[in-house]
Amino acid sequence: MRFLPVFLDLRTGSVLLVGAGDLARAKLRLLAAAGAHIRWFATDGHHDVGGLDTADAARIELADSDPLTADLQGVIAILCAGAGDIGVAMSARAKAVGLPVNVMDDLSHSTFIFPAIVDRGDVVVAVGTGGTSPVVARRVRERIEAVLPARIGDLAGFIGRWRKQMHARIPEFPLRRRFWERVVDGPIGALVLAGRSDEAEAALKNIPDPSAFAGAQATGQAEGRVTLVSAGPGDPDLLTIKALRALQDADIVFYDELVSPEILDRVRRDASRVPVGRRVGKPGIGQDAINRLMIEAARSGQRAVRLKGGDAFVFGRGGEEVEALREANIAYSVVPGITAGLGAAAQFEVPLTFRHEALRITFLTAHKAKDADAVDWSVLTDQKMTVVVYMGMTAALSVRAGLLAAGRSPQTPVGVFARVTRPDSQAAVGTLENLPALVDQIDGGPAILIIGDVVAHSAPWRRQNLNQVISEMLEAAE
Ligand code: SAH
Repeated sequence: MRFLPVFLDLRTGSVLLVGAGDLARAKLRLLAAAGAHIRWFATDGHHDVGGLDTADAARIELADSDPLTADLQGVIAILCAGAGDIGVAMSARAKAVGLPVNVMDDLSHSTFIFPAIVDRGDVVVAVGTGGTSPVVARRVRERIEAVLPARIGDLAGFIGRWRKQMHARIPEFPLRRRFWERVVDGPIGALVLAGRSDEAEAALKNIPDPSAFAGAQATGQAEGRVTLVSAGPGDPDLLTIKALRALQDADIVFYDELVSPEILDRVRRDASRVPVGRRVGKPGIGQDAINRLMIEAARSGQRAVRLKGGDAFVFGRGGEEVEALREANIAYSVVPGITAGLGAAAQFEVPLTFRHEALRITFLTAHKAKDADAVDWSVLTDQKMTVVVYMGMTAALSVRAGLLAAGRSPQTPVGVFARVTRPDSQAAVGTLENLPALVDQIDGGPAILIIGDVVAHSAPWRRQNLNQVISEMLEAAE
C-alpha cells in the first residue's frame, strides 16, 4: 500500500482548486457536494459555477490572483484539475510548504489521490487502487453500493448520538463493543435501517441493563439454536421486545396456523418461512416431523425460530418440543407471550380475578367431547373461580353439562371470545345455560370461553345490558 486512506476534515479550512474547464468543474462539484469551502483559481479566467445550487455556490470563493503567489493561510489541501503547467508548479509550491496536493491524472506530482467514494452520510467508503485504475475502483464501489443498506449512515449517526451515554453505563470496553454489535445486528439496528429511528431510540432507551444485554450476545452466537417464540393472540404489537428480536434475528421460522400474517411480517425479510401447522380440515406435518425440522435447522448452524400462537407453554405442545431439543442436545430458549385468555381478558375487559368475586383461575382445554369427558369438572365447582377454556368451541355442550353437573349456577356469566386482538375479533356473552347458542353466534375460530361472575364486568356484557335497558324503556314509552 502506497497511499494510506485518511479522511480530511473539511471544516478546518479551505481547499484550493486550481484549473479550468470541465475537469475543474467536476472537482468543484465533488468538493461542493462534500461541503468544502473552496477557493477557486480559474486558470483560464472563466469562473463558471453553473449547475451548483446556491448553498454550495456560496461556499466557493472566486480568486483572480496568481495561485503561485497566493496566500496559503487556512488552506488544507490543494487540487489541480485542467491546470496544465501551473499544476506542476503548484505541486512544487505545495510540497515546499508541506500541504497535501493532487494534480489530476499526474501521480508523480501528487501527494494524495482521490478514491472512488460511496457516500451514505456518516458512512463513507473510499476505494483506492493506488492510482492504477479508476475503472477498477469504480467497479468495486458499485459492488459496495449494492450491499450497503441505504440508511447505513443513519445507523452510524444513531450510534454516534448515543455513544457517550452508553460509555458511561458500560465501563468495560469489550462489553461495550459487544453491546453495539448486538444493537447493530439486532432489531434496533433493523428499525433504524427501516427508517424507524424513533422506535429504535425508544427500544434502546428501554434496555434496562446494557451490560447484561451485551453479555447475552457472548454465548453460542455462531452455533445453531432454536428459540421458541410466543407470538401472542394476533396483534403484532403484543409481541414482546424479545420475541421481536428473535424474529429479526432468525434464519428460518417454523410457524403455526394460529400465527397471524401481521406477525409474520415482522420476521427478518431474508429468513425462510416454513408453515408446519394444522390447517382446518387438513392434518399438519405432525409433531415428530416438526421436531426433526427444528433439530436439522439448528444442526446446520441456523438460528431457528419456532413461532407459536399465544404462549408457547400454554396448550401449545411447547413442552414436548423443548424435550425433543434437549434430547438432541440443541441449544434453545423460550420467549413467553400473551396467551389467548389474557388477550381476550384485556381486550374485552374481563378482569380474570376480582376482589371477593373471583379468587382463582383455571385454564383448561376441552378440544373434543372426549377431552371434555376427561376433565374432572368437580374441581371447578367453586363459584369464585374463573374458568378459561381453550379449544372449547366444539365442546360447548360438554362444557356446559360438566359445569352444571359440578353445581355451577346456570346463570353464571359466560363469554365466547373469537379471534381476539385481531381486527375481526368477536364476542358473545350470556349465561352458562345458553353457552351452545352463544358459540353458534360466532363466525369462526379460534375462540376462547371464559366462564365466571367476572364476565359480568366485561365491555360486551355492559353493552348488552345497556341495550336491554334502552329497549325496555322504549317499550314502556310506547
Ligand atoms: N398457545 C396458545 C393456545 C393454543 S391452543 C395460547 O397460549 O393462546 C389453540 C386455542 O387457543 C384455540 O382453539 C383457541 O381456544 C385459543 N386461541 C388461540 N388464539 C386465539 C385468538 N386469537 N382468539 C381466541 N382464541 C384463541
